[in-house]
Amino acid sequence: MNIPVFNSLKIDSLLLKTHTPLQPLKWPVAQRAGVKCYIKRDDQIHPQCSGNKWYKLAFNLERALDAGAAGIISFGGGYSNHLHALAHLGRLAGLPTVGLVRGRYQHLTPTLEDCKTQGMTLEFLTKAQWKERHLANFTENLQKKYPGFYVIPEGGDNHLGLLGCAAMGDSLLQCATQAGLELASLKVLVACGTGTTLAGLVSAFPAQCQIDGVSVLKGPDTLTESVAKRVASLTQPGDCSRWAIHTEYHCGGYAKFPQDLHAEMISFEQCSGVLLDPVYTSKVVLAARELIYAGYYNAGDSLILMHTGGLQGRRGFNLDE
Ligand SMILES: *Cc1c(COP(=O)(O)O)cnc(C)c1O
Repeated sequence: MNIPVFNSLKIDSLLLKTHTPLQPLKWPVAQRAGVKCYIKRDDQIHPQCSGNKWYKLAFNLERALDAGAAGIISFGGGYSNHLHALAHLGRLAGLPTVGLVRGRYQHLTPTLEDCKTQGMTLEFLTKAQWKERHLANFTENLQKKYPGFYVIPEGGDNHLGLLGCAAMGDSLLQCATQAGLELASLKVLVACGTGTTLAGLVSAFPAQCQIDGVSVLKGPDTLTESVAKRVASLTQPGDCSRWAIHTEYHCGGYAKFPQDLHAEMISFEQCSGVLLDPVYTSKVVLAARELIYAGYYNAGDSLILMHTGGLQGRRGFNLDE
């Protein structure tokens, strides 16, 4: 596929670091199985706008700036990595931001405190209002209140967000090629919430590679269908990598952090020196261990774990117990 480039000087001038390291891991779990394991450090793109959320916002921000938008509005929960990244990026770009938050908070979460400090206007939606956020009436009122604002759905999940994820995949592919990794034995594992990030990576990689997602959500698998649709919107059949979604590593559901996941996260952090987040990347590591044990990967494979960022979310969990 043809992946657009970040051609706007306005974006370049934000000076974010997209050439992040592909760090080899000395992880006994992988070493014993003869699997060469790496972690792609997209958490290092920017301390506050890290990982896939930066990629999902980049083309959206560019579009908003090109259109002369008065600001950007988006949606998210009280611990949202997306709103957090948007608040910082908006301030860097000099654009006002509005965050519509699901639920009411008597005390702001650390995430929302940060958003506020960056100048984001916060509004709190009741459950009923949240459900109505896609209705015409809601959108009209929003445009009246914030005229000329550019609206991005929660999670940065629109077509420009998907294109950003394809650019993330392209950057990973270049990095893996430069490191001399064999494409035929290249495997990637990435966390899936909406699956947009997975779809972007899949679209950017050739058919020899296997790019898999780890669902962090419990419940019926609607991800497979939506990832397939998104991939099809960017590529011709066969013109993308093989892929699958592993649905058995949600550990009880979104943001659930049981003892075994906690233990996995601590043990990986101690052995690698790489910090993880409890909601997404720690489940990727747990899944990698289980998949290696189950013989899903072959000796000689290069397995890349995607560090999609989200470290700001650690503050919502008590990690010192
Ligand atoms: C949002 C997020 C994801 C999931 O991305 P999707 O495109 O929604 O699948 C993964 N990792 C981190 C750290 C995130 O913040």
